[in-house]
Amino acid sequence: MASGKLIVFSAPSGSGKTTIVRHLLSETDLPLDFSISAASREPRVGEVHGKDYYFLSAKDFKEKVTEGAFLEWEEVYKDNFYGTLKSEIDRIWEEGKHVIFDIDVVGGLNIKQQFSKETLAIFVQPPSIEEMERRLRGRATESEEKIKMRVAKAEQELDFAKKFDTILVNNELDIAKQEAYKLVSEFLKK
Ligand code: 5GP
Repeated sequence: MASGKLIVFSAPSGSGKTTIVRHLLSETDLPLDFSISAASREPRVGEVHGKDYYFLSAKDFKEKVTEGAFLEWEEVYKDNFYGTLKSEIDRIWEEGKHVIFDIDVVGGLNIKQQFSKETLAIFVQPPSIEEMERRLRGRATESEEKIKMRVAKAEQELDFAKKFDTILVNNELDIAKQEAYKLVSEFLKK
């Protein structure tokens, strides 16, 4: 079976990790492809099934859990299940590419544990919880209740940062993008 490397980006939401991951995917000299997670939440406006996520009903998601289809999965928020399908890794490695993940902290560490040598696990740290909250409000896609839920989760997640290979502080997005590029391209050369 084909094999390659795994690049994990994990962070509290609002840290800018998705923007950084998209940036790396747009750098055509990096042979990366995005691990499309399965999720049981509703798609947001503009999100596409099979591109942003495989959107599944909670029932279908649980069936896949029973089948053993996931490398890792989690109930990230109440009744919202997210997981990495084993078939995604195979798909990307078969393409001759390396896998890049945008997943939560527990999922990221789970992958690092299962593939310790092949994985570079990067924790993206927002400058502060206050700044993160401001960004989430700026995004204006979430209700106040959801923002509070995400901020509470972010506070817990910051404790996990130490367990990652690298912490990337996102103070200035352009600089964070450059640093991410450097970290990933060097790891892929090894
Ligand atoms: P969102 O609803 O904002 O797209 O994602 C919510 C959280 O779930 C984010 O922290 C995101 O990184 C995480 N997430 C997305 N896909 C996965 C996955 O496959 N596994 C895990 N454990 N978390 C995921």
